[in-house]
Amino acid sequence: MKIALDVDGVLADVIISWINYSNSIRSHISKNQVTDWEFWKKFDIDPFDFYSELSSCWKHWKSIPTTQENLSDITKKLSTLGKIDIVTARERSTDSFVKNWLNYHDISYDNYVSVIDGPMKADLDYDVFIDDSPLNAIKFIENNKKVILYSQPWNQHISDEKLFRISNLSEAIKIIKFN
Ligand SMILES: [Mg+2]
Repeated sequence: MKIALDVDGVLADVIISWINYSNSIRSHISKNQVTDWEFWKKFDIDPFDFYSELSSCWKHWKSIPTTQENLSDITKKLSTLGKIDIVTARERSTDSFVKNWLNYHDISYDNYVSVIDGPMKADLDYDVFIDDSPLNAIKFIENNKKVILYSQPWNQHISDEKLFRISNLSEAIKIIKFN
């Protein structure tokens, strides 16, 4: 069993760091208003600014919170089910910060795989993807991959019989074991 585990929005709640920054320079946004992958349109934010600010947040990786508690224990358990790789789409310059963050939070994984564009993940050789991106989820389903969608305000509109929605990463253990 080869498992691809995403970082942003699944392990690291980086949107919180970005919102804190954005709220210091723009009008106020809360996480539950981020109801779309392309939410910046709604707030008239330039996507280039959004992504570069998100990358900047990773420079201050120690201040990025986890999405939930017990990620260390849960990823340890996940790693007993097969090979678990971190598979993350991002700007290359942020890779070292992400690795520091994973290490700091004692996240268990085998390999670190960085790609430039999210939907590119679907072409990689994994049996199951744990991700929060609605765009990636659609691509995984098209490629007949198993998808465990980590529930976030920006992916609530996605549903499919091949998709398992979780609100806590521990739920992924049973899903991988029994499906
Ligand atoms: Mg993500």
